[in-house]
Amino acid sequence: MSYNIAIDGPAGAGKSTIAKKIAKELSYIYVDTGAMYRAMALFFIRQGIGPEETERINQECENANITIEYKDGEQQVLLNGENVNGLIRTEEVGNMASATSVNVNVRTKMVQLQQQLAKTADVIMDGRDIGTKVLPNATLKIYLTASSRTRATRRYNELVAKNVECDLDTIEKDIIDRDYRDMHREHSPLMQAEDAILVDSSDMTIQEVVDEIIALFRERM
Ligand code: C5P
Repeated sequence: MSYNIAIDGPAGAGKSTIAKKIAKELSYIYVDTGAMYRAMALFFIRQGIGPEETERINQECENANITIEYKDGEQQVLLNGENVNGLIRTEEVGNMASATSVNVNVRTKMVQLQQQLAKTADVIMDGRDIGTKVLPNATLKIYLTASSRTRATRRYNELVAKNVECDLDTIEKDIIDRDYRDMHREHSPLMQAEDAILVDSSDMTIQEVVDEIIALFRERM
């Protein structure tokens, strides 16, 4: 019997921070599916492919071999054998990932890889389509959200802490655009699964969200 947790939600809701902590507390493997779409996006950027070039994207994605490894408990994403973890956290790659993840061949490839990973171990997986598509039988499904202003402010504070020059309104606009694309695409749009529990983290601390999800999970096991 396997027990999996699926966390979906819009950009900047805190999914990965929270999922990582839960994985540690439960000794589960954390699978960050956004990182896989980001690695694929980096591949397209390097090939000089534009976000609108649907045909090339659907063809070329066959040449990107994305794999996952764990080092000191941290997920590492390999793109054709190269560890690209340090290269995929930029706004450019995030926006390209959002634009290219609408393509059906990209999604099919990523979903297969994610389902394969979940077969080998109990996982907590986060993304946009985990509860609806990747792990439809997950033990617990969470839809984690927060207001766009809250999410933009969190992102802004992260960037300021890294001394990256940025503007709060621009970040919020990017987040709203990304949500719109993720929620309105044809294939596996971001939505709350029917049996997912909605958690709004706008007025919660990270630890409060972690504790709530773990309590819900224990109830189900
Ligand atoms: O979560 P993260 O910001 O790293 O994801 C980058 C982009 O990858 C998202 O905006 C979304 O378009 C795409 N994605 C997806 N399905 C997932 C995870 C990410 O379409 N399961």
